[in-house]
Amino acid sequence: MPYKDPEARRAYMRAYKAARAEHMRELNKESYERHKEAIQSRRAEKRHAIPVDERRAQDRQYQAAYRERVPEKLRENQRRWRAAHGDEIRERERLHRIANAERFKATQARYFQRHPERSRALQAERSARRRLRIIEGTEGRVSYVAILARDQGICHICKLAVATGDLHFDHIIPIARGGKHSTDNIAMSHSWCNLSKHTKLI
Ligand SMILES: [Zn+2]
Repeated sequence: MPYKDPEARRAYMRAYKAARAEHMRELNKESYERHKEAIQSRRAEKRHAIPVDERRAQDRQYQAAYRERVPEKLRENQRRWRAAHGDEIRERERLHRIANAERFKATQARYFQRHPERSRALQAERSARRRLRIIEGTEGRVSYVAILARDQGICHICKLAVATGDLHFDHIIPIARGGKHSTDNIAMSHSWCNLSKHTKLI
């Protein structure tokens, strides 16, 4: 080291590093690769030492700062990419939800617990959509008397006898799948059989 004066030494080091920026980046990268696991676990440890709310607040701050930094053009590119790959993205998200169904359900349940008004609004929307589909899909007048006479007390799903107290009328092809609200498309079922079917076709 050619300098005894610490200030001059630091200036020398700065100049040295600046002149070899590319090389220094390479060294840093190599060092990171070599110690990757230790670095990452130290980071994770540090992160988990912070209470979860604080951590989330930090994340949000970081994300906001990132969005500030990201130039308009990059954001525009992202938007275009999402628009072009919408189906792919939705499919990936769908598969992800299926693969993590339990966790997803739990998260959703927690969300609705915190936002009961939103849960009620969504339920109301769903049943309004269903009612609309039924009105649109109604074919003639539905005759429940005819259905009872036709089905002879047998559940169309499990083929066992249905007790009066357990009787449901079920759309054979679900309304959500384009089935009609018609005498032909409605059959007797156990309440349990009907409810466990959802919109699956049997
Ligand atoms: Zn049944």
